[in-house]
Amino acid sequence: MMDRFENKNVVVAGFGKSGQACVRFFIERSIPVTVWDSREDIVVPDWADVPFFKGSLPDNFWQDVDIAVVSPGLALSHPALCAARESGVVLIGEIELFARYNSAPVIGITGSNGKTTVTLLVTHILKAGGLNAIAAGNVGTPALSTLGQAPDYVVLELSSFQLETTESLCLQAATILNISDDHLDRHKTLAAYSDAKQRIYNNTLHAVAWRDQQITYPLALTVQVTEFSAGVHSDDFGISDNWITWQNEKVVDLSRVQLTGTHNILNIQAALGLALHAGMDIQAAAEAVYDFQPVPHRCVKIADSNSVSWIDDSKATNVGATLAAITGLRHATSGKLILIAGGDSKGADLSALSDSLNQHIDLLITLGKDGPAIAALHHKALEVTSMREAVEQASTHSRAGDTVLLSPACASLDMFDNYEHRAEVFRQAVAEVCK
Ligand code: ADP
Repeated sequence: MMDRFENKNVVVAGFGKSGQACVRFFIERSIPVTVWDSREDIVVPDWADVPFFKGSLPDNFWQDVDIAVVSPGLALSHPALCAARESGVVLIGEIELFARYNSAPVIGITGSNGKTTVTLLVTHILKAGGLNAIAAGNVGTPALSTLGQAPDYVVLELSSFQLETTESLCLQAATILNISDDHLDRHKTLAAYSDAKQRIYNNTLHAVAWRDQQITYPLALTVQVTEFSAGVHSDDFGISDNWITWQNEKVVDLSRVQLTGTHNILNIQAALGLALHAGMDIQAAAEAVYDFQPVPHRCVKIADSNSVSWIDDSKATNVGATLAAITGLRHATSGKLILIAGGDSKGADLSALSDSLNQHIDLLITLGKDGPAIAALHHKALEVTSMREAVEQASTHSRAGDTVLLSPACASLDMFDNYEHRAEVFRQAVAEVCK
């Protein structure tokens, strides 16, 4: 057992959702804790009756601190955290804290895209098999709040930031679904980003990896790997005649599945692979896929007005997600495909969008901080300044049979509170413009 926290001086750095779960955890165990949040204007709720520092820190703040539990929202290169390290403070994350106290079996999911979909699908499949499974981590419920619930499985969605501060998490099975350019404003290089993701395999019994992307395989050859693939594959998961196959047997009829696009076929295969390692039977696991509903804001149709389909893919916050949406929808659309994109690209190389935009997008409408950079990639682009204007332009230029796709390839924070807010503004604009 790794170090616990009794008799240690503990700081929780960052009072967001997971930071708050950490503070509650320490309070409930009567372990003294101090909180620091870099935001001067953060409101402290009554229950958090502990020493609380806001904004810049006094010089000797870290002097007697042993451990800081750091929010995934804080870069480890933040000057305050550099000062902590220099003072010998051990920096860990909420997931590490969870790992040191958890006794339930855990399945871990990371990747640039598809984490939430696969986390919820694995949880759905395990529940259909009669297991008490809880989805947690980046997906919404902090991992710490599953302690004490004694589930059969915790299914953890793990971001690269969470993995950076995790050492001792032991997993029954884990996957890196895919790796594409994302969060380079924080990780700086794709290699550093991918190294953070690889940490998921440090203590796992089984890995589930994508046959087309070597970088998703564990580096340690001792870990047993189950492969998924969008091609014919006789060993593990593949595709044949619009069915997902498992070791050459047809197991999922894709015409009965509610998720769309090749990327979701890969997601389903990965989820099935993880469910097998949780002891599920392949037929029972496959059957459970059919009634799984798409997760909101991930390539979901929100309106059908005058035979124009409006698709909300607001969660496409990086280039890889938008490329997947364009490919998936191009095949499903007989008319024009109109794309609304733009926002904060987080330092990504947007030129990777260029070929797909020029091959598949009939009209591009851009907005936000990096809208102009995306518009410059396409021969027919309109730049607008609001979501309402984007929807008006899309409506003006669309005819029956066309599809309008909001898939920004960028984060939303330059114009919206978050991707859900962006989706809501889109939905409202569509409702008003198309009424
Ligand atoms: P994450 O939790 O990793 O952000 P989500 O399931 O929330 O993943 O999906 C985020 C975005 O990525 C959505 O736009 C979705 O359509 C797209 N997406 C989902 N799975 C994949 C995949 N395997 N490859 C590429 N894009 C994907």
